[in-house]
Amino acid sequence: MRTLVTGGAGFVPSHLCERLIAEGHEVVALDNFVTGDERNLRELRREPRFTFIEADVTKALPVTGRFDRVYHMASPASPIDYVELPFETLFAGSDATRLGLERAHQDGARFFLASTSEVYGDPAVHPQVESYWGNVNPIGPRSVYDEAKRYAEALTMAFHRYKKVPTRIVRIFNTYGPRMRVNDGRVIPAFCSQALRGEPLTVFGDGSQTRSFCYVSDLVDGLFRLMESELAEPCNIGNPTERSMLELADYINRFTNNPAGVVHKPLPQDDPTRRRPDISRARAVLGWEPQVSFEDGLRRTVDYFAEVMRERGELA
Ligand code: UDP
Repeated sequence: MRTLVTGGAGFVPSHLCERLIAEGHEVVALDNFVTGDERNLRELRREPRFTFIEADVTKALPVTGRFDRVYHMASPASPIDYVELPFETLFAGSDATRLGLERAHQDGARFFLASTSEVYGDPAVHPQVESYWGNVNPIGPRSVYDEAKRYAEALTMAFHRYKKVPTRIVRIFNTYGPRMRVNDGRVIPAFCSQALRGEPLTVFGDGSQTRSFCYVSDLVDGLFRLMESELAEPCNIGNPTERSMLELADYINRFTNNPAGVVHKPLPQDDPTRRRPDISRARAVLGWEPQVSFEDGLRRTVDYFAEVMRERGELA
């Protein structure tokens, strides 16, 4: 099996590449390091069946030979990225999705789109089931991500319907684990790094908004199962254990013995008030559900951030 992965130096895709190598695939990964990191490739670089090519996948996919599988994983994925990299985010969802689909069509490969729970916007239906169409602000600061992913889903379904490309669409909910960027602004890296520094955790708004966090190895297992399934409809992959951001902050402070408490900051515009996946489809069709407890996942994640921060001289 020869597999192309866009965004291979990113958090989730680098774990996916390792899983694919373990499954016996030959993997070619592309990334331009706009949010990816060379550090994430450390183990992969030692694998003879792994090839890395530095490339901007919104412009071209500079690869040769035929592929059996194309995973389109490349995109900035943090709310602060959308503001700093609005065009990169739009083009990762639009141009790069088109290039990946055209490549899959040409090669007779299966195409996999990494979509997102953000297609549900600030959801009026809870928990979110795949049949829900969403509540998205099309011109707000998050729209560069949300609408690009919604367009990407439409494009993927059009290639499926009219060009008969075998396609898969995953809607990824909040995910955490080693290789998230310490400074990427998302809540788990923010809270963990603040706790390790002994600082108060920055809770946005009153902290009553909810999210549901899936450990990265569980997520990657769901991605792989979905690609190898026959399911062309979108599929939620996420952990249905929901918690408020204030609960999360208290948990992380207790977990790290951080006495500094919390400090409240303004809530960003269009911040979804609640999010929890309905995973009935993944359970029924893929036989998938999360296995890693929050405690175990958080332990591995905090250890990772501590290691990176020590490397950078930010921690004793
Ligand atoms: N959040 C927070 N403090 C932070 C970063 C984020 O309270 O330092 C909140 C944010 O407002 C949102 C939730 O945590 O309600 C998850 O934010 P994140 O950026 O991780 O992902 P999102 O689910 O919003 O894409």
